Amino acid sequence: MQAIQVRGACPHDCPDTCALLTTVVDGVATKVQGNPDHAHTGGVLCTKVSRYTERSYHPDRLLQPLRRSGPKGAGQFTPVSWDEALDEIAARLAPIAAREPEAILPYSYAGTMGLVQGESIAARFFHTLGASLLDRTICASAGAEGLTQTLGSKVGMKVEFFAESKLILIWGSNAIASSLHFWRYAQQAKRDGARLVCIDPRRTETADKCHEHIALRPGTDAALALALMHELVVHDWLDHDYLRAHTLGWEAMRARALEWPPARAAEVCGIAVEQIERLARDYGACRHGHGGPAAIRLNYGMQRARGGGNATRAVASLPALIGAWRHRGGGMLLSSSGQFPVDRAALQRPDLLAGRRPRTINMSTIGDALLDEGAPKIEAVIVYNSNPVAVAPESAKVVRGFAREDLFTVVLEHFQTDTADYADFILPATTQLEHWDIHGTYGHTDVMLNRPAIAPLGQARPNTQIFRDLARRMGLPDASFADDDEALCRMAFGARVDFGRLLRDGFAPLAIDDAPFAHGGFPTPSGRCEFFSARLAAQGLDGLPQHLPNHEAIGSSALYPLAMISPPARNFLNSSFVNVTSLRAIEGEQLLEIHPDDAAARGIADGGIVRVFNARGAYRCRAVVSTRARIGVVHGLGIWWRKLGLDGRNVNELTSQALTDMGRAPTFYDCLVEVSPDVGAGGDSSATMPSSGSGRLNR
Ligand code: SF4
Repeated sequence: MQAIQVRGACPHDCPDTCALLTTVVDGVATKVQGNPDHAHTGGVLCTKVSRYTERSYHPDRLLQPLRRSGPKGAGQFTPVSWDEALDEIAARLAPIAAREPEAILPYSYAGTMGLVQGESIAARFFHTLGASLLDRTICASAGAEGLTQTLGSKVGMKVEFFAESKLILIWGSNAIASSLHFWRYAQQAKRDGARLVCIDPRRTETADKCHEHIALRPGTDAALALALMHELVVHDWLDHDYLRAHTLGWEAMRARALEWPPARAAEVCGIAVEQIERLARDYGACRHGHGGPAAIRLNYGMQRARGGGNATRAVASLPALIGAWRHRGGGMLLSSSGQFPVDRAALQRPDLLAGRRPRTINMSTIGDALLDEGAPKIEAVIVYNSNPVAVAPESAKVVRGFAREDLFTVVLEHFQTDTADYADFILPATTQLEHWDIHGTYGHTDVMLNRPAIAPLGQARPNTQIFRDLARRMGLPDASFADDDEALCRMAFGARVDFGRLLRDGFAPLAIDDAPFAHGGFPTPSGRCEFFSARLAAQGLDGLPQHLPNHEAIGSSALYPLAMISPPARNFLNSSFVNVTSLRAIEGEQLLEIHPDDAAARGIADGGIVRVFNARGAYRCRAVVSTRARIGVVHGLGIWWRKLGLDGRNVNELTSQALTDMGRAPTFYDCLVEVSPDVGAGGDSSATMPSSGSGRLNR
C-alpha cells in the first residue's frame, strides 16, 4: 500500500480558495483536507469540500460520453465512444462555424475558478471559430464595476488584517457559510475586543454571532451608506487630510451625503434611526488618530439589485472619509482579484480573433437570448463550468430556450445536471483531483497551484483536452492548442510568480503592501479614491454614488407584496454539491424562510408546503416560519437543482432578467413575490409532496 499527499487548491466559487492536501492510497483519493502550511486555510476546509472524495467518486459521476436518445429535457442518453461524440459534434459545429460563427455560443462561469480549466484552451477554441463572446456577469459584475469606478480595480485590504480591526462591518455576507476563513480572522478580532456588526436583510448564522444585526430591506444599502456619510460629515468625524490628499470629488460627495439624514435612510431601509446613528458613531470613532481601525467585509449579495453598482460605490467610499486605509487593519474588502497579474492574453489568445469583433451575449439574459429570433440566431451552445437551467434568472424562458429542437447543445460536466438534461451530447469532465490548474483568488492574495492527485476517472477528460480534441476534429490550427496544462499553469503568471515555489508549496503570496492605500495610490485614472467618477458621468450616469430604488421595490405591487432574496443554502455552493447525498441530507429540501407575522397573515404553518409565485412563475417548497426573515422579506434558499425540487422547479422560476445599474448584472435579490399555502395535494399543505420533477437523478 502506497500513500502519498498531493497539494492542490479548491476550485469552487468562494473567496477563500483553500489549499488542499489530498491523501492518495494506491491511486485512490481517500481524504481531502486543508493544508496546515497555508496560513489562510489553516488546515481547515468547509463541510462541503471536506467531502470532496464523496463528490469525485459519486455513483452518478459521468464517466463516458453520452448522446441524447429521448426528447430534450427528458434526460435520456446513450453511451457513445469519444470518437463518435467528437466526430458528431465537429460535424454539427463545422458548418455553423463556416456559415455564421456567431451562431455558436460558449456558456461558462465559475464551476471551476481555475484559470486553465476555465478560459484558456476553451477561449482559444471559440476565438479561432469567431464564436459569439459571452459577457460573464451572472454573479459579481455590478460590484466589480462599482469597485473599479471607486477604487480603480478589484482591490482592497488584506484579509488577514481583519484580525487587527476594532470595528468590522460584515456587509451582505453570511461569512460563516460563504467565507469561513475570513470569519476566523473576524473571530480573532472579536476575541481581542472588536465590535462586529452584520448588515444583511436576513438574520444569518453570522448575524447571530455579531454584536449587532442591522436587517435592512434588500436593495437599500446605498441609502444606509449615504446616511453614515451624513453623520460623519455633520459630526466632523472625518480625516480631512486623507480626503484632501487622496480622494476626488469630496465637495460634491459631501453635498450628496447631506441629502441623506438618518431619518430618510431609516424610512428607505426599514430600520430604526438609532441604529444608523449608533453605527455612524462607532465608525466615526475609528477615524484616523482616534479609535482603532475600522474594516468592512462586503460580499456580493448586496449588489444583486437594481442599484448594486451604486451601492458598492457608496460602501467603498466610506473608508476614505475616516482615513481607514491608513491602517493595515482598516479599509474594506469586496474582492482582491484585481491584484493578481494574470496574463489572460497568453492563456486566452484574443489574437486568434484575427481582427473579427463577434457580438457579445450577456449570460444573465440567456433566456431571452436563446429565444431571440433575430439574426444570427443562436444555433449551438457549448456549456462548461456552469448550470444555466438551474442558476440563470427567469427559468421558464431559459428552459424554453434550451428545449428548442433546432438548438444543438453540448455540456461538459461531472454530473447530469438540469442543464445536461437538455444536451445533445454530454462530455465527462475531470474534477479538481484529476487535473492541473492554477488560481488567483478574490478573498486573499496568494496564487494557488493545483496538481492532479489521481488519474482521470473512467473516460473523463480535462476541459482543456476536450477543446483540444474538438479543435483537432474541426481542423483548427494545431499550434494554437499545443500547450499542455502544466505549460498553461506556468503561462498564467509568467515570471511574475515563482513557479518553483508553487510546485514546492502549492501557494505563493503576491508582494503587496500591508496597507496598500495608506498613502493613496489607488489604481484609478486620478490615483485617488474617486467619489466622483468622470467615466460614469461620461456614460450619462450619476457620477456620484446614489441610492436607486429596486426595479421591484417593496410596496410597489399589491399583488406581490413580499420581497424575495435567494441566499445560498449553507451546504451548497451555487448549484454545486446539491447532488452530494450527505450534504443534501443536511439541507433536507427546498426551504422558504418567512417571518411569523407574514406567515400568520397567510395561514402558513411552519413546515407546511407553500406556493411562491409572481407574474413570471411559481414553485413549491417547504416553509420555515422564522425570525431569520424580517417582516416583508422572504428567503428562498438556493440553489437547488430543479429536478430535486417538489415540482421540478427552483427559486429562479421567479427571478427576473432585469439588470443592474452598472456591470450588466442580474438582479436576483430584486424580486417581488406572494406566498400561499399549497393546497394542491388534497388540501393538506403540511404533507410532503412526491417529486414530480423530471427525476433524472433516479434516486
Ligand atoms: S471554504 Fe471555500 S475555498 Fe475553502 S474549501 Fe470551502 S469552498 Fe473551497
